[in-house]
Amino acid sequence: MSYIHETISDLKNTSPAQCEFYQAVEEVLESLAPILESNKLYQQQAIIQRLVEPERQIMFRVPWVDDQGQIQVNKGYRIEFNSALGPYKGGLRFHPSVNASIIKFLGFEQIFKNALTGLPIGGGKGGSNFNPKGKSDDEIMRFCQSFMTELYRHIGPTTDVPAGDIGVGAREIGYMFGQYKRLTGRYEGVLTGKSLLWGGSLVRKEATGYGVVYFAENMLSIKDESLKSKKCLVSGSGNVAIYAMEKLYQLGATPITCTDSTGTIFHESGIDLTLVKQLKEKSRKSLEAYLTEHNDAKFIPTSEYPSDGHAVWRIKADAAFPCATQNELTLADAKALIANGCQLVSEGANMPSTQDAINTLIDAKISYGPGKAANAGGVSTSQLEMAQNASMQTWSFEEVDQKLQIIMKNIFETAHQTAIEFGQPGNLVLGANIAGFKRVADAMLEQGVV
Ligand code: NDP
Repeated sequence: MSYIHETISDLKNTSPAQCEFYQAVEEVLESLAPILESNKLYQQQAIIQRLVEPERQIMFRVPWVDDQGQIQVNKGYRIEFNSALGPYKGGLRFHPSVNASIIKFLGFEQIFKNALTGLPIGGGKGGSNFNPKGKSDDEIMRFCQSFMTELYRHIGPTTDVPAGDIGVGAREIGYMFGQYKRLTGRYEGVLTGKSLLWGGSLVRKEATGYGVVYFAENMLSIKDESLKSKKCLVSGSGNVAIYAMEKLYQLGATPITCTDSTGTIFHESGIDLTLVKQLKEKSRKSLEAYLTEHNDAKFIPTSEYPSDGHAVWRIKADAAFPCATQNELTLADAKALIANGCQLVSEGANMPSTQDAINTLIDAKISYGPGKAANAGGVSTSQLEMAQNASMQTWSFEEVDQKLQIIMKNIFETAHQTAIEFGQPGNLVLGANIAGFKRVADAMLEQGVV
């Protein structure tokens, strides 16, 4: 058995029942084979065994009282995965599907993503199986306060700085920050994604979505192409999807789909983004309500999805932007995209494509931007928020956007050049994983066995 397969097999024995985590580890380790072969020090110093084991895993009870006076109990998590390059950094996800495996896969991915940005940030992730859907504002506040009542003792501006993710936006960050301040008496940059009124950064809200599209432009530019006039499939209709669609319009492309957990909207003439913002950012409704204003659009409920994938990827378009959740683009979806002439996939979500889908896209020479590179604009701008907080400065929208564009270009260049260096030009999975790994692994070597 090879060194890599042995590591994965050990992991399965020592951390049972964590399939999403194994999937993320396998994807990374498979592509590290060339660098592990070329530098035996990584094996001698057990870098891989240390990388797959989080430095710290915090699991806690989150009790809260609902509007009916009933006591509810959720599970809370913070996985502080790796701090070789800086304070742990990564979002909090509130979604009923959250469990230790999902938080560990997200935290593991975050190590390499953060390393790839070139910024001084380590990797972490957290969240809860709390479902914010259908909860009143008061219930959300009580939950967030209870969550922070445990989390506050583990985080700090130079130790661990959480941000948002699925189900955690400006409202939740606000309630958690309020409780942190109340418990500690400190006003400091302990969370990112804060409101602009009290320490947030311009462009943070837009950063992941804009970054995914900047990354796509970089992928196309080496083929002397651009997004202009391209029809684009987008999944999701949350923070990442909305601002990916906004940037697509700004660059002359047309997003023709978006999705949520109830179904898919297909609007051939172009998604009405103002309406999607209204439905999702303000009234928090199902996308089906889109039809009340656009009877030329089509809503495909999840009950009508193909059994082997997702309806959105079966629609003909030039480019695809998965921006909802993990494993939402399957092998059958990848084949359908290729058959329909799609030239590019740029991932806004974390691990949205299954491993066989990724292999198929790469084999077909589609421009494929893996999430850990393409969606790194969010965490990068979070780091810019930390820098502004630490220096007590506020930068303009243009200044932050300019920095974001440079960071996305650098990430692309790094992954692209590394893929060439290791003999697989165009394979940005390999390029991103090796480049991210090298930075974090070399820091670990220099810091000794800790
Ligand atoms: P939001 O909660 O704002 O939006 C998530 C969207 O995806 C919603 O439209 C939601 O539908 C849909 N969705 C979530 N889970 C499922 C599911 N199981 N099945 C179908 N649809 C689902 O989250 P974000 O936009 O912030 O995050 C989206 C993805 O991007 C995640 O993978 C996240 O990890 C990743 N990401 C986010 C970053 C950020 O800065 N926010 C940074 C980097 C990556 P509904 O409206 O019905 O709930």
